[in-house]
Amino acid sequence: MSGFKTLDQLTEDIDVGGIVLIRADLNVPLDDAGAVRDATRLQRLLPSLKKLSEAGYRIGVLSHFGRPKGQRVDTMSLAPVAEALAVLLGQPVSFADDCIGAAAQNALTALREGSICVLENTRFHAGEEADDADFAAALAAPAAAYVNDAFSAAHRAHASTHGITKHLPTYCGLAMQAELDALNAALGAPERPVVAVVGGAKISTKLDLLGNLSSRVDTLVIGGGMANTFLAAQGHSVGTSLCEDAMLDTARAIMVEAEKQGCTILLPRDAAIAPAFAAGQKAEMVSAEAIPDDMMILDAGPDAVRDICVAFDSAKTLIWNGPLGAFEIEPFDAATNSAAQHAAALTRKGQLTSVAGGGDTVAALNHAGAGEDFSYVSTAGGAFLEWLEGKTLPGVAALTA
Ligand code: AMP
Repeated sequence: MSGFKTLDQLTEDIDVGGIVLIRADLNVPLDDAGAVRDATRLQRLLPSLKKLSEAGYRIGVLSHFGRPKGQRVDTMSLAPVAEALAVLLGQPVSFADDCIGAAAQNALTALREGSICVLENTRFHAGEEADDADFAAALAAPAAAYVNDAFSAAHRAHASTHGITKHLPTYCGLAMQAELDALNAALGAPERPVVAVVGGAKISTKLDLLGNLSSRVDTLVIGGGMANTFLAAQGHSVGTSLCEDAMLDTARAIMVEAEKQGCTILLPRDAAIAPAFAAGQKAEMVSAEAIPDDMMILDAGPDAVRDICVAFDSAKTLIWNGPLGAFEIEPFDAATNSAAQHAAALTRKGQLTSVAGGGDTVAALNHAGAGEDFSYVSTAGGAFLEWLEGKTLPGVAALTA
């Protein structure tokens, strides 16, 4: 990765004891008792926090939490997340009742060198989402430097991801750096051939993504409900399957464009079908050209999985977004499980760089027991999808501005 200032540079530029604000993504799911249900995002933040703490900076953590829409909403306070962070870090973490003004200033200046304070939800102020210049200046006021370690919030030009960078020397955190390195290895300057898997429910939500990928990858595997629309566009009957009739021309245009770009589109040759998407169904395997009128496609079939695994075998890089079938209900998780496990095995052997993320992908790969072995699994959601669409993310662009 180049063009960004790293934490190593921060330690050269900023005196020990200086106040460093780090934009994190503390927007983690809580259970009814207020305990953190999935701490993955917090875990990924620990390396930057530990590095800055060990270097002797006084650290303020900025984050949004939920959608309070510019109002103070008690259930969206970051206080419980600060407690969870302290447990994971194994060191005390203080909490400031506001992210600007005297509360923030006092809490940050009271920190000892190497100590950490979580500042209250940035979205309690309307200036956050409006990227308001005065609010950004108020956020920056107590600090000597700013670090962005929240790739998952980088698709938004908000005061804490964008405006603040106009007021402080700006650095890239270690988690952000790892994410950008992984994304660059997958799509920026990948080892070829590159295979992309795009699954999930609908084409209509993934048009930009399909357009960008088909111009950049060698093979595009289309799976999940959206494959049905492509099969229908090729003139096959898809029975009662999920199918976007209004998108048939679009699907045909994507296939024509992909061919022009030299990208092979791989559609399922066969399918697992059932009368309904419900628990306790038995899957029947049929050719994609012979879907009965009263049945629906709920997963790719075994021949389709073989085709996908062959494509993986000759690839050097894999990008994966979306399940190959309705993986939440057995046995329609079979194709996603097999293909993900094969990709994981190739990655373990060092044959494949595999990067996945967006929507249900993380859940689908973890369900397959394959997530751990992928080279990189992004938990960034919307930011990951916008990056797959080829968009410039304001929070990333601001790191170099
Ligand atoms: P997305 O959020 O667009 O990535 O879509 C994920 C959803 O697509 C999951 O909830 C899957 O159950 C669903 N899905 C995948 N394949 C199918 C299919 N053949 N029929 C209906 N839903 C599907």
